[in-house]
Amino acid sequence: MTANLDVAVGFTLPLRHARGRLVRLGPLLDEVLAAHAYPAPVARILSEALVLTGLLGAMLKDAGGQLTMQAQTENGIVELLVCDYRGGELRGYVRFDGDRLHDLPKLPTLSDLFGKGYLAITFDQNTSGERYQGIVPLEGQSLADAVQNFFGQSEQIPSLVRLAVDDTGHIAGGILLQHLPEGEEGRERIHTRLDHPEWDHVRILAETIKSNELVDRELAIETLLWRLFHEEEEVRVLNAVPLTRGCRCTFEHVRDVLARFAAADRDAMIAEDGFITVACEFCSRSFPIRPGDLGG
Ligand SMILES: [Zn+2]
Repeated sequence: MTANLDVAVGFTLPLRHARGRLVRLGPLLDEVLAAHAYPAPVARILSEALVLTGLLGAMLKDAGGQLTMQAQTENGIVELLVCDYRGGELRGYVRFDGDRLHDLPKLPTLSDLFGKGYLAITFDQNTSGERYQGIVPLEGQSLADAVQNFFGQSEQIPSLVRLAVDDTGHIAGGILLQHLPEGEEGRERIHTRLDHPEWDHVRILAETIKSNELVDRELAIETLLWRLFHEEEEVRVLNAVPLTRGCRCTFEHVRDVLARFAAADRDAMIAEDGFITVACEFCSRSFPIRPGDLGG
């Protein structure tokens, strides 16, 4: 039953120089949201952000690489949104101003949610140590539009991004399709032109995707790809990457981090109860550590 959920599936249309990815989340979403009591509009934007994180994270060639998305906002109802991806593990959380939630219209724009905000997308490759960051202004109707415009305009990679969350809030999905006329490695595109007939062709096919197809758990992703591109001469479907909800917070990890602090700094962190308490905002969990357990 969950075969079509919590998965990222890559595909390429080699003759059109296009590549893409579909992500559909189900139980993973419930697991992330269960750690919090987010009101519907906040849960919805986090669900979209998690799908986007899966779409972009699955692009990392390096298995130990990490993708982080962080929304910084000014005067937004959403004060902070963070998601990250590492090795098929996704997590995320939101900080928001509950007192201003009633100001939100039924279909909030990005500025309704984030005020004057931007999204920093950071790719960290593990083995090469390479780091790349893109800054996406949070403007327009949706996260999908903002990221699509960012790729098209700032990065000169014609892109299509669609994100959807079903009415129950338990399933979310998305597609990312990109045109890479100079090949996968994306070397410098000195021939960047505004008109790409082959891109227009696949973009128009991909635009026929419906939100309810993205979140239909009965619909296999391969079937969806076939619906979109069955007239194409060649569609290569890549291995499906299973996605899970994951976090690195454990007592051992927190202890290791604290042990690296200078003794004087640690002393300053001890609360009245005698513990140093570190919180994981992803999990809404607290880790009370006894200073005597830190050694040194
Ligand atoms: Zn955690």
